[in-house]
Amino acid sequence: MQTDIQPVEAGRAASARGTVWFVGAGPGDPELITVKGRALVERAGAILFAGSLVSEAAMRWAPAGCTVADSKDMTLEQMSTWLIEQAARCDTVVRLQTGDPGLYGALIELVQPLDAAGVPVQVVPGVSSAMASAAAAVESLTLPEVTQTVIFTRMEGRTPMPQGESLQALAAHHSTLCIFLSITLMGQVTAALTAAGWSPDAPIVVVHKASWPGEEKIVRGTISTIQALCREARLVSQSMIIASPTLGSRQWTTLAKSKLYDASFTHRFRRASVPASNLTLESP
Ligand code: SAH
Repeated sequence: MQTDIQPVEAGRAASARGTVWFVGAGPGDPELITVKGRALVERAGAILFAGSLVSEAAMRWAPAGCTVADSKDMTLEQMSTWLIEQAARCDTVVRLQTGDPGLYGALIELVQPLDAAGVPVQVVPGVSSAMASAAAAVESLTLPEVTQTVIFTRMEGRTPMPQGESLQALAAHHSTLCIFLSITLMGQVTAALTAAGWSPDAPIVVVHKASWPGEEKIVRGTISTIQALCREARLVSQSMIIASPTLGSRQWTTLAKSKLYDASFTHRFRRASVPASNLTLESP
């Protein structure tokens, strides 16, 4: 198979033979890694994977003789040291991360020591668990005239939230919220939504292990019921909380149609089949 994966030569230190690729492994289903990510795993000399989160099945493409390590018991410093050592030894070193490496993945904390050591770095995006959770529940995170905005956030845990990013402040937009890392703080999530003016009947969906073969669970409730439902389902980790005015729209009888597919709307790729009447539209 031909791919356009080229190691970066610029900035290569004398001690670094290879490139460290931060690869999004996807949310759990091994088939949700990208073609490019899989090709890198297939030719990796060394792979460092995030133990509890990346499905071991994603390792099924590692070549024989590849050095494989689980980062679950390593500190960030031990991880970067390991990656630097492996880059001195082999051409392709892969750091396999859950979902997309740029979301709650300590990407920059790991890239900085590699930069300092002169080791070339590349990132391959992955399917985030936010996308996989929406897909599992057959939900759209945006809907015309309902919300056109998605916020990725989390409740404050050991990592403090920056000024202005409390869940209550973000929820005041009444847009879609994908809340990571917060399943054990569900009481605080519902309290923040309520304080921001969401109705007790507002729907919430929680997806546990989205896309994991045989392990996915979808819990649907409202602000007033979701905490008890999640407790009943024993969800304590690896769960995405989605709060959105779009939830359940599959059952709605009236939908504002997307202008992009409106028969009177001409855009770059399609000519209108009926003349536009009273429509003022921006380009898509
Ligand atoms: N980079 C990852 C997020 C890592 S933070 C991504 O893009 O998805 C870990 C959090 O992600 C978990 O606490 C949970 O909220 C969410 N998560 C990861 N995998 C998940 C999955 N398969 N299903 C639901 N939520 C998941």
